[in-house]
Amino acid sequence: MSKIWMPLAKWRGLIDGDTCPMCGDQSADENEYSYKIAMLESGRLQLQKNQFIKGYCILIAEGHYSELHSMPTDHQAAFLRDMVRVGAALTTLFGADKMNYEILGNGIPHVHAHIKPRYYGEGTPRRIGDSAGVHHLTAEEYQQRVADIRSALQQLENTQHERSTEKRYLIK
Ligand SMILES: [Zn+2]
Repeated sequence: MSKIWMPLAKWRGLIDGDTCPMCGDQSADENEYSYKIAMLESGRLQLQKNQFIKGYCILIAEGHYSELHSMPTDHQAAFLRDMVRVGAALTTLFGADKMNYEILGNGIPHVHAHIKPRYYGEGTPRRIGDSAGVHHLTAEEYQQRVADIRSALQQLENTQHERSTEKRYLIK
């Protein structure tokens, strides 16, 4: 057996969703790894406690699907739309120079996207993982970051709404 894969029984439980840590009651504002930012159309957005990259978030799909292609197409589209919206909001908020979207799920096969702002000149120019370090904030700083991201998402929504109104007007 390869060293990198977990025991098969554990893997099956995660694939089936029976032991999936991303399912179940998700009402808590805080868990071991993250803080809840918002419930979006397709799932919930969490701020990772390890802020080794400023603004690192995870979007977790509602419902247990182990693959993006297994989701109903409208849910799939909503998930990608939410993911991109979050990326745009984080870019504006933190002045990111690049945005990384990672949908992996080899550790927890429940569709989720790691949304990682990248900044020019940081130490790891290519793929960046948790091994890059651990950076924790104070409780107040986490709360501030969550509030800032919520407001950036809201602002983006307002702008998009204005744009779509303009567009409708132009079409007329
Ligand atoms: Zn799950």
